[in-house]
Amino acid sequence: MKQSLFFIPTLKEAPKDAEVKSHRLLSRAGLVKPAAAGIYSYLPLGQRVMRRIERIVREEHDKRGCSELLMPALQPRDLWDESGRWSDYGPELMRLKDRKERDFCLGPTHEEVITAIVRDHLDSYKKLPLALYQIQTKYRDELRPRFGLMRGREFVMKDLYTFSENEEDLDFWYETMKEAYTVIFERMGLETRIVSSDTGQIGGDVAHEFMVMSEVGEDTIAYCTECSYASNQDFSGLETGDACPECGGRSETAKGIEVGNIFKLGTKYSESMNARFTGRDGKRHPAQMGCYGIGISRTLMAAVEQHSDEESILWPKEIRPFDIHILPLADEHVEKAEALTKELGSSYEVLMDDRSERPGVKFKDADLIGIPYRVVLGRSLEEGKVEFVDRYRGEKELIPIQGLREHLENVID
Ligand code: ATP
Ligand code: MG
Repeated sequence: MKQSLFFIPTLKEAPKDAEVKSHRLLSRAGLVKPAAAGIYSYLPLGQRVMRRIERIVREEHDKRGCSELLMPALQPRDLWDESGRWSDYGPELMRLKDRKERDFCLGPTHEEVITAIVRDHLDSYKKLPLALYQIQTKYRDELRPRFGLMRGREFVMKDLYTFSENEEDLDFWYETMKEAYTVIFERMGLETRIVSSDTGQIGGDVAHEFMVMSEVGEDTIAYCTECSYASNQDFSGLETGDACPECGGRSETAKGIEVGNIFKLGTKYSESMNARFTGRDGKRHPAQMGCYGIGISRTLMAAVEQHSDEESILWPKEIRPFDIHILPLADEHVEKAEALTKELGSSYEVLMDDRSERPGVKFKDADLIGIPYRVVLGRSLEEGKVEFVDRYRGEKELIPIQGLREHLENVID
């Protein structure tokens, strides 16, 4: 891929409202561009990383028996009246009218729509379980949209809904998805902590959040220094020094970014919206539901936050937009760089900086963009050599151009 065609509008300066590092980098590296507060375009590089994130999410859902569908963002008021949420939701719900003055909203989440889809098909327990998900744009008129993709008014979410005939089956899906989420975030190279977000008074585990530990997170996590207990402080109220409710050990607190959330809904929507089935006992029962979200766009931001310094990103393996960045330092090196791009392109995703820019500009942009492996074509080309940079290991070496392919095969992970 030629960089001149790929549209990566890097910036020298971050926008003034960019208070956190990842927000500055998302703007400066040309990944996103704001249209209004909390509303963003995903530029080609940002979109490419989003696709990688989505691919991991799809793979880990599909292999566990979940099916992907796509529901409308525009939702009629009637469904929200049925669940009672048209009046309960408050000003975060983006409401609008069509030309006939009928009320609609832009979906902040999709329990109503999915329940209406499933109920018409549910006659007997034989139709259960169901696990349906989508990756879609969500709308919430957040009071304080901020920190770039972290708290948007329009953002991309994966939402999964499960329907079960009883609580045991709901528990099974809940545990399955807890494990899936752990794998998903690990594959993305994100260090997360599973945090319980219920008081425990209802009994059993009702909700968990997946947190990326980070100073810039908006949530506070209370965790035990002696056992694996961790909770959202909003729910547990634990302060530093308090006794752990599980082992009595000392609690500490730290900031986190919530990237995922799993929740046992039980029969809240299936009762209000009448999603019932005839059970094995011949009686009618409301389906037991679970919902499971991942903030896809927020995860992109969290990944940048965790894998960067102020001047550069270093993408983790499975979400990197390209494998290799080829930098011809002068126009006379571009022809060779094009041949190399073609040759390596059969095995790797390659970006080649064919722009007529000074070497300093190319290096600065390359650092910002964050591709982990770099091949530099400069003066040493006269001796038949190129510089190979492995940014994961922080190593550079001169490699004879004939031996480059073999070298890459040994080094690139
Ligand atoms: P928060 O407490 O951060 O507002 P939430 O509890 O409202 O999150 P959910 O409704 O569970 O979030 O949504 C699922 C996931 O969607 C969250 O875990 C988060 O990653 C993401 N998300 C929620 N709100 C936003 C937003 N305004 N911008 C970007 N991502 C969001
Ligand atoms: Mg919220």
